[in-house]
Formats: sequence, C-alpha cells, structure tokens
Amino acid sequence: MTEQVVVIGAGVIGITTALELQCCGHSVLVLDKGGVAAETSAGNAGAFAFPEVEPLATPGIMLKAPKWLLDPLGPLSIPPAYALKIAPWMYRFWRASQPGQYARLLEAQANLMRLSAAALERLLPSVNGEPLMQRDGQMQLYESEAEFRASLQAWEVRCAHGIKFELLESPAAIAEKQPGLSSRFTHAGFTPDWLNTIDPKKWVEHLAQAFRGRQGRIEQQDIRALTPLENGVRITTQGGTIDTAKLVLAAGAWSHHLARTLGDHIPLETERGYNTTLPEGAFDLRMHLTFSRHGFVASRINGGVRVGGAVELAGLSLPPNFKRADTLLKKATQFLPGLNTEGGTQWMGFRPSLPDSMPVIGRSPNAADVIYAFGHGHLGLTQSAGTAELVAALIDDRDVPISLAPYSPARF
Ligand SMILES: Cc1cc2nc3c(=O)[nH]c(=O)nc-3n(C[C@H](O)[C@H](O)[C@H](O)COP(=O)(O)OP(=O)(O)OC[C@H]3O[C@@H](n4cnc5c(N)ncnc54)[C@H](O)[C@@H]3O)c2cc1C
Repeated sequence: MTEQVVVIGAGVIGITTALELQCCGHSVLVLDKGGVAAETSAGNAGAFAFPEVEPLATPGIMLKAPKWLLDPLGPLSIPPAYALKIAPWMYRFWRASQPGQYARLLEAQANLMRLSAAALERLLPSVNGEPLMQRDGQMQLYESEAEFRASLQAWEVRCAHGIKFELLESPAAIAEKQPGLSSRFTHAGFTPDWLNTIDPKKWVEHLAQAFRGRQGRIEQQDIRALTPLENGVRITTQGGTIDTAKLVLAAGAWSHHLARTLGDHIPLETERGYNTTLPEGAFDLRMHLTFSRHGFVASRINGGVRVGGAVELAGLSLPPNFKRADTLLKKATQFLPGLNTEGGTQWMGFRPSLPDSMPVIGRSPNAADVIYAFGHGHLGLTQSAGTAELVAALIDDRDVPISLAPYSPARF
C-alpha cells in the first residue's frame, strides 16, 4: 500500500500537522498505537502559553536545582534509579543555560511562539475552534517583594519581545482579577494574551474530527521501525509494512526510538508531570494561575480545576509516583483556601524534552523523506499550530518564515 503522507502520532503535534498537510492538498494517514490523544496531549494544563518566550534552561537555573532536589516531592526530582541515565542530558541542559547559548535559544523560542500564536488564529476559524478556547489570560504569582524583584528580569525579556503584561503590586490588585487567593501572594504579573483550551483532550479530538470530516484517516498501529527507500519510506508495523512517499514522525516522548531505526541519535528524554483534575464547582477560577516558586499551575478545565506541573526526570518505564500529585493538590489548598478537593482524578504525562528546550523540527539527516516534529517539552500544545505550518512547508519544499537551524535534528 502506498500513501502520500503518513503522520506517526495522534497527539496534538501529529493531528494539528495532519490537518495542515490536508489543507495543503495532501492525502494523509495518521497512525497511532493508542488512538487520538492517547498520551501527553490528553491531560496537560491546556495552556497556549505564548508569552513564555524564555527557554527553560535560563542562566543560573542549575544553581537552584540542588535546593529543589533536596525535597523528594518538590518541583524537580530525579529518582536514584534514573540519576546516571539522565546525567548526559543534564550536562547538555547546563550547557544550554550558558549566557551565549541562552540568548540564541531565547530568540528561537520567541520566533516559534510568535509563529504559533499567529498560526493558531489562522487555524481556529477554519475548524470552528473558538468555543473550545478561553481567552482569560494568566497570572504569575509571587510571595514577596524580593521574589517579585528577582522576576523583573524575565518581565524585561518579555517586554523586549513585545509581550503585553501588567504588573500587580498588592494583594488587593491581585484579588480584583482573581478573588479567593491566599494573601501570601503579594505581587503578580498578568499576561492577557495567554489562551487556554477548555480541555486539551477535547481540542485534539475536535481537530481529529475536522481531519476525518475532510477524508483524513486515522488507524491504530504500533510502529516498530522505519526504513528509507529510494523514494519514500517503509514503515514496519506490528502486523506488516506500509510504504509512503513522505513521513512525519510526531510520536512525542517515544520518537527517538523510531528515529534510531533510521540511524539518528537524538537525546530526547521525558520530563514527567503530574496533576489532579477537580470537577466543576471546585473553585471559581477566573484565569490560569502559575505558582512560580513551586513549579505548578492551576487551570480551568471543563469548568473544574486542574492542579499540576512539576518535573520528574524518570524516563518512560518507571512506575508513576502519585504522591507528587497529592503534594501539589495539598499546596493548592493553601494557595486557594476555598478549593474543594473532592472527586479529583490523578494523571501523569510524559513531556518530550530536548536538553536545550527546543523541539526537533526538520528533515532526518538519514532519510530525506522523513520530517521530525517532536520534543516540544512543556510547550507542545502552545507550539502545535506553528509546528504544523513549518512541517507542511518542509513537506512541500516551500520557504519557511523563521530559521529552522535551532530546531535541526542534526544539532546534537
Ligand atoms: C503535567 C503537564 C502539563 C502540561 N501543560 C502544558 C500546557 O499547558 N501547554 C502546553 O503547551 N504544553 C503542556 N504540556 C506539554 C504538552 O502536553 C506536550 O508537549 C505535548 O502534549 C506533546 O504532544 P505530542 O503530540 O508531541 O506527544 P503525545 O501527545 O504524547 O503524542 C504522541 C503520540 O505518539 C504515539 N506513539 C508513540 N510511539 C508510537 C509508536 N511506536 N507507534 C505508534 N504510535 C506511537 C502515542 O500513542 C501518542 O498518542 C504539559 C505536559 C505535562 C506532562
């Protein structure tokens, strides 16, 4: 069987890309071992976090890590069983946080954010997606004058990149935007151009429905290997082979295993994250809240509240430690005193992360007909529409509006 374009992965990156390719006139088949939004794209915080232009690897971040690591349930954890395995990735992360690298990566992240914000606005009307969006903005909360002052450099960076924001310097000013917060929050930064979806799973399912409605096909297949052909690619599945002219690999945190079958070694790791989703009525949350010092957020999902975040560097196979979700929820009851924690559902997801905080978007060095689109870390939903447009341009050999060098699969 020969397909024109096959996309591996039906998460937010794969489905948004499939839809864009279809709009560019391609016949597209999506393959996923679990179905639509089977993994990380289902349970994230639902934020289109366009104002977050700074890469994660900021100068000085490594100095904070030891303090975080001392608390086994704190914002960052590495189980002893995974410490040696993650060491080379951590070394690369440290290198990316050096000032020269940081400046280059900041520009790259800002470019992808700008493109993605514009691309989402192009996508929304074409899929009647506005009812799935909440345009309430986001508030980053600080607990002291000193913490707020320390954050000002990041706000200057946002200012330099044209991000709109308002700084709030009293609990009363904060309460005007979000009543019911603990008075421990003395300062905040509000970013109005931050969107959330009502539910990230529903968003991907909505896009998948639009894709299917335009003759797109989605099949459940477990992909085992990729082999370059003279023209195109052979996909080995659990039950046979499929040949395709072009292939997009968007398999999230599992992508490097398939890239390796082509001879490409990409240092993809996973930053595992945890959350609890509380039903409607849990709290009158007016916008996305970021508890900066604690590494977690609260967002409104289906009228309820999703509390979660944190980073656990523990790979793909160690069992989840849901004490992490319990800890975040407990902290949230101190921050939002009226929060009703009854009836919550816990979840753990695998952020697909490269050590320099940039995704991989580009042609495989070993297979010209394979385009990689993975490794979006904390920002896969946010950067999905921009990634989709870049991938479609690569498939069609069209010029792209931003430099792809920072996302190149050959950069490692
Ligand atoms: C707690 C948490 C909160 C987050 N909050 C946000 C947020 O608010 N905003 C944001 O932008 N990002 C957020 N993220 C990150 C975001 O969820 C991810 O970056 C994004 O979901 C990655 O999408 P993806 O399509 O690349 O991967 P996935 O959604 O994981 O999809 C990959 C797909 O590939 C399939 N697959 C894998 N291997 C194979 C194979 N061999 N054969 C066939 N199929 C295969 C899987 O079944 C899966 O469906 C968060 C992540 C976490 C964990």
